[in-house]
Amino acid sequence: MEDTIEKIRIYGDPVLRKISDEVTGFDDDLREIEDRLIDTMFSYRNGIGLSAPQIGISKRVLVIDQSFGEEYDNILTMVNTEIIESAGEITVEEGCLSVPEIYEPVTRPGKIVARYRDIDGEMHEIENDEFLARVIQHELDHLNGILFVDRINQVRRKLLSKRLRTLSKEGGAV
Ligand code: ZN
Repeated sequence: MEDTIEKIRIYGDPVLRKISDEVTGFDDDLREIEDRLIDTMFSYRNGIGLSAPQIGISKRVLVIDQSFGEEYDNILTMVNTEIIESAGEITVEEGCLSVPEIYEPVTRPGKIVARYRDIDGEMHEIENDEFLARVIQHELDHLNGILFVDRINQVRRKLLSKRLRTLSKEGGAV
């Protein structure tokens, strides 16, 4: 189990800024990425979602703990996710394992419909207007090289710029 726990890439690491590739093969390699994501996510007390770039893999795979820290076997694995509908706007405080110790309010659509493939390549659609919708959007951003601090207002961002610069020095050194 231990060798499936990866180091989380931190703000400043270039892999977090890359656009991840579509998954084309639903094979053992993909399952291995899924295992590594789940084990790494659960190795962090406050990890409720993790995307492949956060462990250095530029592929469109993300996992979400649908119990949000309550159980160990309620994982949603989403491959090649697309948001096909979104509505409303709500502001919720977000954090990120790749941007440690920073929590900021982010405004996003409150309701989404997303289309994704599971680990076997089967297509699914999910509609949600709760916390899960928020987590999906946050994780999906990672696959497009976007971090939640890119979405906070400019004044807050300015206030955080020193902390982000410090993180960036640490993260870029990976
Ligand atoms: Zn994140």
